[in-house]
Amino acid sequence: MQHPKIAVVGAGPAGLTAAIILSRHGWPVTVFEADAGARSRDQGGTLDLHPDDGQLALSKAGLLEEFWKIARHEDQGERVLDALTGKVLHEETPEPGQGNRPEIDRLALRDLLLSALKAQDVKWNAQVLSVVAHPAGGQGLQLDTGIVGPFDLVIGADGAWSRVRAALTEVLPVYSGVTFVELWLSNVDALHPDIAALVGRGTMFALHNGQGIIAQRNGGGAIRVYAAFHTTPEEGDRPDRTLARINKADLLRRFTGWAPSLCNLIERAERIAAVRPIVALPPGLGWTHQPHLTLVGDAAHVMPPLGTGVNLAMLDAAELAEALVTSEQWQSALVVWEKAMLRRAEILAQQTREGFAEMFSESGQASVLQHVNENVQTEMDTP
Ligand SMILES: Cc1cc2nc3c(=O)[nH]c(=O)nc-3n(C[C@H](O)[C@H](O)[C@H](O)COP(=O)(O)OP(=O)(O)OC[C@H]3O[C@@H](n4cnc5c(N)ncnc54)[C@H](O)[C@@H]3O)c2cc1C
Repeated sequence: MQHPKIAVVGAGPAGLTAAIILSRHGWPVTVFEADAGARSRDQGGTLDLHPDDGQLALSKAGLLEEFWKIARHEDQGERVLDALTGKVLHEETPEPGQGNRPEIDRLALRDLLLSALKAQDVKWNAQVLSVVAHPAGGQGLQLDTGIVGPFDLVIGADGAWSRVRAALTEVLPVYSGVTFVELWLSNVDALHPDIAALVGRGTMFALHNGQGIIAQRNGGGAIRVYAAFHTTPEEGDRPDRTLARINKADLLRRFTGWAPSLCNLIERAERIAAVRPIVALPPGLGWTHQPHLTLVGDAAHVMPPLGTGVNLAMLDAAELAEALVTSEQWQSALVVWEKAMLRRAEILAQQTREGFAEMFSESGQASVLQHVNENVQTEMDTP
C-alpha cells in the first residue's frame, strides 16, 4: 500500500514527535523548519514532562527509556517564597527516585527527538510562508525559494504564530497583558551559591500584586529567571517590540519593595535573553475541517504557560501520528482525532486562562499556595 506523503511544518517538540512516529511506520515525511540548524537559536529553558502526556508521547515515539536516562530527576523541587521578605512559605523536594516529572532542557529534548530521525527528514532554513495549492495537485508549501510538494497532508506544528493556521482560520493569539522577561545566570553553584540555595533544585515562585519572579534550575548549573509583570497600555500589545531594550535597572524599578534576595536574581543576571509577551488563542477555537491540513500543539491552541504546553503539544502529535498509521482510512482517522484534540484543548485552555489570570492577580500568592497544598493533599490521599 502506498502511504500518503506528509509535510510537517516546525521542528519543535510537536512536529518532531509526529515525524518520528510517522517515519517509524514507513510513512514518507519531511519536516520544514525555519531555524538554520538544530542549535542555531536559544531554545529557552527547562521543561518537565508529565507521565500522562509528554512521557506518553515519548513512549509512543520509542524514546522514553532514553529520556529517563538523560532527564534531570534531581530538579523536581518546588518552592514558594514571600515576595517582600524572601521567606520560604512552601517547599517540596521529592525523595530521590520519587518524582515522576523529571526535567529536560529544550535543546536536549530537541537533540533527543532528532536522534530518531534521518538527517534528510528535516529541512533547516525552510521558513514556510503559506500553504498553497501545488501546481501538480495536492498541497504545496510556499518557501521563499519556491513551492515544495505536493503533499497529501500538511501538519502545522509551527507554534503560536503559525503560518499554516492562516489556511484554516483568521483567528490570531491575543496578548494576555502579562510579559515575561527572561534572564539567565550561569555556573551558579560556583558564582552565586546564595542564589543557588534560594532557588533550590527545581522551580521557585514569588508572586505579589500581579507580578512575579519565577526561577528554574536548568542543566549545566544555570538558572533561568522570569521577571513577570503587567505592561501598561502605552507599552501596547507587542511589548517584545516596545520593551526590546529593557535593561536590568528598568526591571528592578518594577520590583521596588521586593525582598533584596529576590531582586538579586535580576541584578546579578548575566543577560536578558528575551522579552516574551504571554499570548493565547481563545478557548474553544475551531475551524471547518479540511481533509489535507491540520494543526498540533501551540499552532492549534497556544495557552498561557502553566506547565502544560509542551506536554499537550507532544501528546497531540503522538496521537495524531498513531491515529493515521493505525487506521484503514487515514482521512476518517484525521476527522476523529481533530475533534477530540480540539475538545481536550478547549477544556485546558479555559483552565489555564483562569489559572494564569489568578496567578497574576492581587491574590496570586494565595492561589499558588492553595494549588500546591491541594496537590500535596492529593498525593497523600493517593495510595
Ligand atoms: C515563557 C514561556 C514559558 C514556558 N514554559 C513552559 C513549561 O515550563 N512547560 C511547558 O510544558 N510549556 C511551557 N511553555 C509552552 C511551550 O513552550 C509550548 O507549548 C511548546 O513549545 C509548544 O510546542 P510546539 O512544538 O507546538 O511549538 P514550538 O515549540 O513553538 O515549535 C514550533 C517550531 O516551528 C518553527 N516555526 C515557526 N514558524 C515557522 C514557519 N513559518 N516555518 C517553519 N518553521 C516554523 C519554530 O522555529 C519552532 O521550531 C512555555 C511558553 C512560554 C512562552
